[in-house]
Amino acid sequence: MADSTYNALINSNAVIEFDPEGNILWANKNYLDLIGYKLSEIEGLHHSIFLKEDERDTLAYHEMWRRLALGDSFTGEFCRVNRLGKNVWIQGSYNPVLDSQAQVIKVVKMAVDITDRMTLSENLEKKNRELATTAAKAKAATYAKSVFLANMSHEIRTPLNSIIGITDTLAETSLDPQQLTYVEILQRANQQLMTIINDILDLSKVEAGEMEIKKFPFELGRLLQELDSLLNFRAQEKALSLKIEVAPEVESFFIGDANRLRQVLMNLLNNAIKFTHHGGVTLKISHNQTEYPGYLLFCIQDTGIGISKQNFRGIFKPFTQADSTTTRRYGGSGLGLSITKNIVQLMQGHIWLESELDEGSRFYFTLDLEPTIDPQSTSNFIPDKSALPGHLCLLSGPLKILIVDDVDDNRNLFGIYLRNTRHELTFACSGLEAVTLAAEQSFDIIFMDVQMPSMDGYEATRQIRVLEKSSGSRAARIFACTANAFSEDIAKSLQAGCDMHLSKPIRKDNLLKTVSSYFQSDSTAYLSAESPK
Ligand code: ADP
Repeated sequence: MADSTYNALINSNAVIEFDPEGNILWANKNYLDLIGYKLSEIEGLHHSIFLKEDERDTLAYHEMWRRLALGDSFTGEFCRVNRLGKNVWIQGSYNPVLDSQAQVIKVVKMAVDITDRMTLSENLEKKNRELATTAAKAKAATYAKSVFLANMSHEIRTPLNSIIGITDTLAETSLDPQQLTYVEILQRANQQLMTIINDILDLSKVEAGEMEIKKFPFELGRLLQELDSLLNFRAQEKALSLKIEVAPEVESFFIGDANRLRQVLMNLLNNAIKFTHHGGVTLKISHNQTEYPGYLLFCIQDTGIGISKQNFRGIFKPFTQADSTTTRRYGGSGLGLSITKNIVQLMQGHIWLESELDEGSRFYFTLDLEPTIDPQSTSNFIPDKSALPGHLCLLSGPLKILIVDDVDDNRNLFGIYLRNTRHELTFACSGLEAVTLAAEQSFDIIFMDVQMPSMDGYEATRQIRVLEKSSGSRAARIFACTANAFSEDIAKSLQAGCDMHLSKPIRKDNLLKTVSSYFQSDSTAYLSAESPK
């Protein structure tokens, strides 16, 4: 290399020279500026003075100098320490210089200061780590909150189970007109309370990432008929029309979560009826032609009070109502639309609204439901096994039913609900008692509370399944009765050997349906529907 080129390189880079053992021979001004020493302070000293103390005696470091002395070169990014003890990052290359006999006579190192870049990326990494920790903490806090809410909801549902059950039973007795009015008020209040608790639990499930969307074939027309029969009554009470219009091109059967779709439609139609005083409500379903993803487009249109533009923004946020007088006039918790939006998004859809104050509202949502053929019409249709219990019993006659619950009132309620049936009831107030009873006699159905002190319902179920196996007796159909249907609870009870889940509070009609489904070959009959708003 010409001297002038070498000089140009030296002037533009930080350069330092070492003997083959690593002792400093010389350094240019750029290098001295970089490292903060005068040449006289470092001349003759070993390169290791630029290293942190704990790195000076490492094997890797000794190996680097051994190989440099043999003629190998090294490049890389190195962290060095300047005169003030501060870290200096350099991009450096160590190059051995050979004499005519190919012996290393010195090592020249060229360095570029990359401290700014490295500090920036170190800071970024630190920030990322901090962000990740904050996010993890927030996630853990949200989860803890959701579990707390689920537990709270369980605590509230337990007494509510009795309140609803006894009120419904009272309504069936002969009452004078005034008593009947009181009972009806109680029933309405129970329903409102139940809706709020369900909404809070749903919201906490969404926030904890626990809301699952299932995929089963279902018949759209049947779902709409159900909605119509549930809501027409409410619309008629307010002298409103309720119309459901399905475009002719829309298929009859789809694969998706019918329960969640029902919940979304219930929320929107209920709101439409609630906020409309004249005219009516129309649900329209067609193929989706909008820019949003999804196969079907749903539109819920009303001629009600409408929503002003400035209230559009927050309307899908939890605990938000269009204006503060809404709660006073119409009731509600402001959770319905937030849950609805979350469900629509979980089903790969989009929700939006068009509305003018005093001119009614149109809520639209798209859903990615896949059309399918009638599942009954094809012999190779395989239902999702997870939805079906393991035992199909085509018997008739009185059933032997075991009711396991540690709360006296809950056991009593089962007794009241089933007292006019021909079935034979046995009660156990603990998991252990249930196992002892199951060892002595076999039951057709067991309603198993899962949360019980000492031996819980999971353990009792496991032990009963072991007993059934060892004795070769027919397996009972075991229903896990629980208030907080988080997916891990459901998985836990299925793993323990339960066949199905029954959500508390258990309504009389649902319980009777569940029991009579024992005689049906179509055992999906007792898949309990979401409770209407
Ligand atoms: P709420 O339990 O209060 O009905 P939602 O989340 O379902 O909670 O609705 C939030 C708010 O949005 C309502 O309080 C109401 O102010 C407004 N809203 C929802 N649907 C309609 C509608 N169809 N017409 C007018 N206002 C509506």
